[in-house]
Amino acid sequence: MPDSLIASRPLVLVVEDEAALATMLRYNLEKQGFRVEEAADGPEALTRIRESAPDLVLLDWMLPAMSGIEVCRQIRRRPATRDLPVIMVTARTEDQDAVRGLNTGADDYVTKPFSMDGLLARMRALLRRSNPVPAKGPLEFHDIAMDLAAHRVQRNARAVHLGPTEFRLLEFFMQHPRRVFSREELLDGVWGPDIHVEPRTVDVHIRRLRKAINGPGELDIVRTVRAAGYALDTEPL
Ligand code: CA
Repeated sequence: MPDSLIASRPLVLVVEDEAALATMLRYNLEKQGFRVEEAADGPEALTRIRESAPDLVLLDWMLPAMSGIEVCRQIRRRPATRDLPVIMVTARTEDQDAVRGLNTGADDYVTKPFSMDGLLARMRALLRRSNPVPAKGPLEFHDIAMDLAAHRVQRNARAVHLGPTEFRLLEFFMQHPRRVFSREELLDGVWGPDIHVEPRTVDVHIRRLRKAINGPGELDIVRTVRAAGYALDTEPL
């Protein structure tokens, strides 16, 4: 799935050669709703960054082959990743180096052993700064308005009542209008990659969404694309 589609579930690249720490980070971050990829050394990290375009990098300072600092320098050198948030992870004895790390481009750093809460707060602050999406602002498409903060949906100024899954489904569509999503992509984006449900479940919720959102005489704004999936669209074809 293209990386722009899952802005609601940030992708974090954990660059860490200590397998136990990487596993702990993955476990905790996934529990908090992040998607996680891992790299065990610098070159692998740079490849992953190119291929997966993470939203944030947790970068261990002491890595085999290439130091965290060098990885950070290379991240900053590439125009595509110049503004990619990087948090350096250092051991206590490396504190001085950590400050230097900030000078060479890391946005923040944590010192091992660090508290997960502290790390999460820093990550969220950085993600907010780098990605100031009006996540809670109203979404609009055609004659539909969605107020995420108030959890209200209107069509033609008429209140529409949606179940929680239909609400998230519509929110996802409204964030990517006119784009066609396969059932698998919808499952991934709306239900999350760890939820295992049948792709046909999507059809059930699409049906419910249509029933709720399309009033009598109103245009069906959910387009079915044969063999491909669904899109929020005002054009039938
Ligand atoms: Ca290390």
